[in-house]
Order: sequence, then structure tokens, then C-alpha cells
Amino acid sequence: MYVVCEEHLSRAIDEFVEVYEQSPDLYELDKVSFTDWSSPHTCDFCEDPPKYLVV
Ligand SMILES: [Zn+2]
Repeated sequence: MYVVCEEHLSRAIDEFVEVYEQSPDLYELDKVSFTDWSSPHTCDFCEDPPKYLVV
């Protein structure tokens, strides 16, 4: 699972496909909420606020 900003979305997808050998599902973080999981405050690849969830 990756949490990334817009700039690093394609990189997260590339890594996901490489690791899991299937296409990820994409979610916009501001459109989903998780009861047991609070979203990280930074992108997995930089310090920017994340915008997408790649799972
Ligand atoms: Zn980023």
C-alpha cells in the first residue's frame, strides 16, 4: 500500500505493479475514510501532503 502525492502517483503505481504483478486500486484520500486507520501526513516518497491511496 502506498500513500502518495500527485507527483509520485505514477511512481507508486510502477512499484506496486512490480511488487504485486497486478494493477492497484486508486483512491483519493479526501473521498475515503477509514475507521481504524488515520492517513499519514506525508507522501511515501517526499514530505508533501499525500493525495492518493494506492492499494
Ligand atoms: Zn510525493
